[in-house]
Amino acid sequence: MATKLDYYAVLEVSRDANGDEVKKAYRRLAMQYHPDRNPGDASAEARFKDISEAYDVLKDDQKRAAYDRFGHAAFEGGGPGAGGFDFGGGLGDIFEQMFGDMMGGRRGGRRSGSDIQVQISISFTEAFSGVKKPITVPTRVACESCDGTGSADRDQGAETCPTCHGAGKVRAQQGFFLVERACPTCHGAGKVVRNPCTACRGTGTVERDRTLEIAIPAGVEDGTRIRLSGEGEAGGKGAQPGDLYVHIAVEPHPIFQRDGANIYCRVPLRMTQAALGTEVEVPVVDGSRAKVKVPAGTQTGENFRLRGKGFSVLRSSARGDMYIQVSVETPHHLTKRQRELLEEFEAEADDHARANPENTGFFSKVRDFFEGKL
Ligand SMILES: [Zn+2]
Ligand SMILES: [Zn+2]
Repeated sequence: MATKLDYYAVLEVSRDANGDEVKKAYRRLAMQYHPDRNPGDASAEARFKDISEAYDVLKDDQKRAAYDRFGHAAFEGGGPGAGGFDFGGGLGDIFEQMFGDMMGGRRGGRRSGSDIQVQISISFTEAFSGVKKPITVPTRVACESCDGTGSADRDQGAETCPTCHGAGKVRAQQGFFLVERACPTCHGAGKVVRNPCTACRGTGTVERDRTLEIAIPAGVEDGTRIRLSGEGEAGGKGAQPGDLYVHIAVEPHPIFQRDGANIYCRVPLRMTQAALGTEVEVPVVDGSRAKVKVPAGTQTGENFRLRGKGFSVLRSSARGDMYIQVSVETPHHLTKRQRELLEEFEAEADDHARANPENTGFFSKVRDFFEGKL
């Protein structure tokens, strides 16, 4: 990316210039470098763009304050965490509108095509394994009805514009000046279509949905943005196409949660399973099963690690782990017999401190507290 000039330097004003001074400077420079006054001068056109962009920021108190604080970084786009600001439609749109208006609605030229933003949603398991997804984006293609000629009468096609004789520009005397401007008949194309094609209204191109397949890598996280360079909207003749940005949303999963490359799965165990020990079969995100040995006396909150069963780490061969998080479920709705057995169980315990050290420890501290020892 080319280094951007300081907006104040572009407008030739000091950093403490007030709104009026900024406006005056802009008017003077815009008059001087306006493309209509400098036909065919690419450097003047670039300068004019810079001036317009600088003015767009400095005329707005909020944007100017952001620029003073963060410089150009304040307006650079980016996903979450990029540290940039987002001013609604974005600077590009504002600039495009303004530039388009000032150019008298003239289209085409070396302007690059717009970027396209697409949002797609993938499942948790697709994010785990990686997936190819077809996405549909609107694009302009040659019109099928007229083979791209723009003319309803294929044999005739487009003919040289009678006003400018194909030059695309006309000259007119204005006072002392000979002013050159886009031809009003052909709008700069140099050709006109006598009998325009109805499908494309003479433009030769129509909007069509284009489907392309994008490969989403394994391990992708919710909110990731993938940029496909040059897959945006086509630019004018000889211009660069814009980029395509695909924003990925990953749907939550009913069983698995994710933290970075690790996966967590909460497994509720019956009180007796946790007390006596057991082996449980747990699901793995890749669709396989794993057996986890739960030793006797397992507590709520204990984790069992399945090494390497987590997500792939992007741009690396590393993998996260999967954690089975145990929670012990106290039984509800006991039958009469279950209740009797548990009462018997409670009476049977002759050494509570050994069976439930945490419970015993806590209540001995409580006793100390009431006796003023803690
Ligand atoms: Zn013309
Ligand atoms: Zn057509």
